[in-house]
Amino acid sequence: MENKDIDWSNLGFGYIVTDKRYVSNFKDGKWDDGELTSDDKVVISECAGVLQYSQSCFEGLKAYRTKDGHIVTFRPDLNAQRMMDSAVRLEMPAFPKERFIDAVVETVKANAAYVPPFGSGATLYIRPYMFGSSPVIGVKPADEYQFRIFTTPVGPYFKGGAKPITIKVSDFDRAAPHGTGNIKAGLNYAMSLHAIVTAHEEGYAENLYLDPATRTKVEETGGANFIFIKGNKFITPKSDSILPSVTRRSLEVVAKDYLGLEVEEREVFFEELKDFDECGLCGTAAVISPVGKIVDHGNEIAFPSGMDEMGPTIKKLYDTLTGIQMGEVEAPEGWIKVIE
Ligand SMILES: *Cc1c(COP(=O)(O)O)cnc(C)c1O
Repeated sequence: MENKDIDWSNLGFGYIVTDKRYVSNFKDGKWDDGELTSDDKVVISECAGVLQYSQSCFEGLKAYRTKDGHIVTFRPDLNAQRMMDSAVRLEMPAFPKERFIDAVVETVKANAAYVPPFGSGATLYIRPYMFGSSPVIGVKPADEYQFRIFTTPVGPYFKGGAKPITIKVSDFDRAAPHGTGNIKAGLNYAMSLHAIVTAHEEGYAENLYLDPATRTKVEETGGANFIFIKGNKFITPKSDSILPSVTRRSLEVVAKDYLGLEVEEREVFFEELKDFDECGLCGTAAVISPVGKIVDHGNEIAFPSGMDEMGPTIKKLYDTLTGIQMGEVEAPEGWIKVIE
C-alpha cells in the first residue's frame, strides 16, 4: 500500500483522522462480531454511562515499520490483558484477549498507509477504548458498551534528541491505596489534569506523585512509571496503585537479560532518590524520557547524569528496547507481533 503524503519527521503527538476504525458493541449480555468502519463519529445517548459517571477505560500501543518493510506491534497481549483487568474493576464486560489482538491487527492493516516509514522516528499510535453507551441515571454499571480502536500517526517523541526534563513533587495525589491507580481508566486522567496544568504553569514538565498514605514513597507520574539507575542496579517502584506499564515491564527484562543489570522492583522511598545516578519515565509514547532534576518545594535533586543528555545506562536501555521494537535487535520470544 502506498504511504500517505505526510511529513513524518515533523508530526507531533496529536490526533489525525485515519481511514478505518474498529467497533464492537456489547448488548443483551454479549459482544457482537465487530467490524471496521469509516465513520469516525460516535453516537450515544445523552445519558450514556460514560458521560454521566465516567465508565470508560483505554489502552495505548504502537505499530512500527521495520527495516525490512514489515509492520509489527509490540506485546499486544499485555495490553489486551490489562484492558480486561481495567474492565473488570470498572464493572464493564471484558473484551476477549484474542479478539482484542485480532482487532488491533485488522485496524492497523486497514490503516497501513499511515504507518510511518522506518527511520523516520514516527509510529502509528493505536488507541483501543471502551465505554458505557446505554443510559444510566441511578448509579450503576451501564447495560450496553462500545469497544473501539482507532489509529493515528504520531511523530518522534524527541525531536533532536532526548533532553532531560525537570519535574516536581506534586501536592496532589494520583491514586489511593485500593483505588483505581492500577487500571487504565479515563477517570485517573481526568483528576490529574488540574495537577499537570498547575505543574506546567510553574515550569515543570511532569508531576512525581507520592503514595497518598504516607507521602514518603515514589509512585509514578500521571502517565509514566519511574525507573532509576544506581550503579549496576535497575530500580523501579512496586506499588498496588501504579499502572503496570508494558514499557517498564519490558525494560526490566532488557535490563536483566540484555544489559546484565540487577533488577529491583520494590518500594522506593523519596529519601533515596538523592543517591541514584539516573532517572527516567517510561511509557509507550516516549519509551523513556530522561529526568535530570526533581524539585520538592524548593529542594532540588539533580541527578549526576545532568541536564544535557540521557544518562549512559538509560541510553542503553532506550537503544536496546527501541532496537527490539524496530526489528534491529533480536526480541525475546513472543514480544513482536507481525501484522504484515
Ligand atoms: C499508560 C500508562 C503508563 C505507561 O504504560 P505503557 O504500557 O508502558 O504505555 C504509565 N502510567 C500510567 C498512569 C499510564 O496510564
